[in-house]
Amino acid sequence: MNKLLFRGTVVLPDHLLTGGGVLARDGKIIAVDRAAAFAGAIDAKTKVIDAGDGYISPGFVDLHVHGGLGADFMDGTAEAYRTALIAHARHGTTSLTPTTTVARHDQILRVLELTREFMRPQLMWPQHRSSDSPSPPAPLPQGERGAKPEVAREAVLPRVLGAHFYGPYFRYEARGAHPGAAIRPPVEHEFRAYLEYADAMATATVAPELPGAEEFSRACVDRGVRMNAGHSWATFEQMRAAVGWGVRHIDHLYCAMSDKTRLRQFQTYPMQGGVLEATLFFDELTTEVIADGKHLSPDLLHLALKCKGPDRLALVTDCNRALDMPEGPYLIGPTDGGEPLIHRDGVGLMPDGKGLASSVRGMDHMLRVFWEQTGRPLWEVIRMASLTPARIVGRDREIGSLEVGKRADVVVLNETLDVKHVYCDGREFTS
Ligand SMILES: [Zn+2]
Repeated sequence: MNKLLFRGTVVLPDHLLTGGGVLARDGKIIAVDRAAAFAGAIDAKTKVIDAGDGYISPGFVDLHVHGGLGADFMDGTAEAYRTALIAHARHGTTSLTPTTTVARHDQILRVLELTREFMRPQLMWPQHRSSDSPSPPAPLPQGERGAKPEVAREAVLPRVLGAHFYGPYFRYEARGAHPGAAIRPPVEHEFRAYLEYADAMATATVAPELPGAEEFSRACVDRGVRMNAGHSWATFEQMRAAVGWGVRHIDHLYCAMSDKTRLRQFQTYPMQGGVLEATLFFDELTTEVIADGKHLSPDLLHLALKCKGPDRLALVTDCNRALDMPEGPYLIGPTDGGEPLIHRDGVGLMPDGKGLASSVRGMDHMLRVFWEQTGRPLWEVIRMASLTPARIVGRDREIGSLEVGKRADVVVLNETLDVKHVYCDGREFTS
């Protein structure tokens, strides 16, 4: 039996509980209360984790993340996939949707295959095989390098919620930093092959103005895959139609999207809104911001929060492989065919230094920046990095907040919000 008591200021969805405690057993939260209430619950088997003047936070949930520590989820190997997961666990992320990008058909199929492998529960649970855990021991998968059981048993990795299928169905002119060569519109015989992996796809992105976007969106929704719009120059009317097909979330608000000014290059009058205006307008749509302090000014963060509110606005990292790596040149997307970017000044830049090319920061940085720049209560900002994204991806009954019955995904933060310990399913992440 694995019993944990976390003590400190507990970050709940709607307030901070100072002098609080969170009790977990066998990977689940069984009580949240004032710490004093747990005096009788501590026995020799209970591990006590004291945050001191710091915080006990729910684990972070990242819906838009490409890689870290030199690895991109698109690299196509289990080793790279695992490295990218480890990179984000260090920053407090306990659940994520590995985000694909524009690539060849076979490369996309490969990352969906890896996603399915990393979603298998035995990768999360093997430590419990000799305990009284209800999870049955299962044969360990044979990874491409002949993964040994010892390796998997030690691994505490963030939970893979399913891929964020992102690209190749972008509008070419709105591709931003992503590789352009393989951008294409959705065609049924191709996307049917991807949807064979619908069980390993949490969300999918499309530019709604592409031919085939409606068919792709409806096919995804039919298979239980949530639909996003992004990397798009759609008009407001095209966005209204997309909401009708089931599009419910918009990738990185303000980035790689149309607005009134952009669309004016096609039509002088009447002026019309684009993806930006539609995202702010439609209550059906949730969205996300890259709050790394580089992509968006504080005013834009305020505007997004004012229009969408903390339950419709998630923090994401959109982090590339340069996380926790030295400044210099990197690739976004696979080592085979990725697009060059420069890691400089705490952000990813296009090689000419004139455009942004995703972030190089973890979720802990995003919430510190959003908190400092908006002055919102800490519990609300952390909710935007935990419960809100969990709800957007349909997993909030299980993860996203420190509530009885949910998984013991816990991040211990110090007073300045640095990550001190990370627990996923009640198991500490150590590497
Ligand atoms: Zn993007």
